[in-house]
Amino acid sequence: MLARLLDDSTTLVAVFDEHDILRRSNRAYREAYHVDDGEEILWADIMRRNHAHGRGAIIDADDIEAWLVTALSRRGKLASRSFEVDLVDGRWLWMCETVLENGWSLAIASDVTNLKAGERELRQLTDKAIREAQTDSLTGISNRRYMMLVLDRLLASPAGNPPDSICLIDIDHFKSINDRHGHEVGDEVLVDFSRRMRNAVRPSDTFGRIGGEEFMLVFPGLGHAEAERVLARILRKIRNHAYVGRGVEVFYTVSAGLVERRRSDDARSIYGRADQALYDAKQGGRDRIQVAA
Ligand code: GH3
Ligand code: MG
Ligand code: MG
Repeated sequence: MLARLLDDSTTLVAVFDEHDILRRSNRAYREAYHVDDGEEILWADIMRRNHAHGRGAIIDADDIEAWLVTALSRRGKLASRSFEVDLVDGRWLWMCETVLENGWSLAIASDVTNLKAGERELRQLTDKAIREAQTDSLTGISNRRYMMLVLDRLLASPAGNPPDSICLIDIDHFKSINDRHGHEVGDEVLVDFSRRMRNAVRPSDTFGRIGGEEFMLVFPGLGHAEAERVLARILRKIRNHAYVGRGVEVFYTVSAGLVERRRSDDARSIYGRADQALYDAKQGGRDRIQVAA
């Protein structure tokens, strides 16, 4: 009955003697490793033969003998071990080996292809979920959550020379853009601004939307004087080039609060000063950069 059950099982089963010669195997094992019923063959020869025919286990080496040296140095050395085997036919096996002190061994392997596929899918879904959780859905740039992460990380690392700068940017009179042209045009202005900023900053700078029509720009290793020059150039372009779409032309400006990192700063304190600087830029008449004191 055991022999019949083993032959019906999808689990692979094989027994090797102290010379590592196959002495018993079930149908699932013989099919996966291409051995004949009753064939007594060295485990290494099973591997050599399959490698020559491009079947059985995927062997990640050009030289099968070199691969066997490594494989045999591990084989049968532990009372039990388990590992993954990748088959040429696309299946994944979870192989468990048990070795007696006299050298006889038992190999049992289950097909885990579906589990592996599920794992891969899960990993992909997780990656996608993380990406989406950090992305602003309207503009496609980093969202508040991600920007705060960037800021926390930046402030957790020691300040360099030149120090880092951060900037809060808010579109001026945005409410009146919505009121005059409609919410859709407002949305497109947000997308337009995001795209222009994204294209204008260095790859090492992080730009994101932290809410409504408010954005944040992180300049690692850029002092406030240099950051102000960069920003002024970008803002001049934005001021002079209208967004054109949906049959309208919208000129818009922004206000910015720029702050250079102090040694004593944490994420809260630097953000607070940038926010105050932005407020001052608005109070000062908008369409300007206010550098924090
Ligand atoms: P200020 O120059 O002082 O910044 O004035 P403002 O009009 O830009 O600022 P206010 O805070 O009064 O209004 C911001 C407006 O932005 C109000 C809100 O309806 C609009 N808004 C926020 N998020 C979105 C969005 O995703 N799409 C659109 N179209 N409008 C948005
Ligand atoms: Mg505004
Ligand atoms: Mg605002």
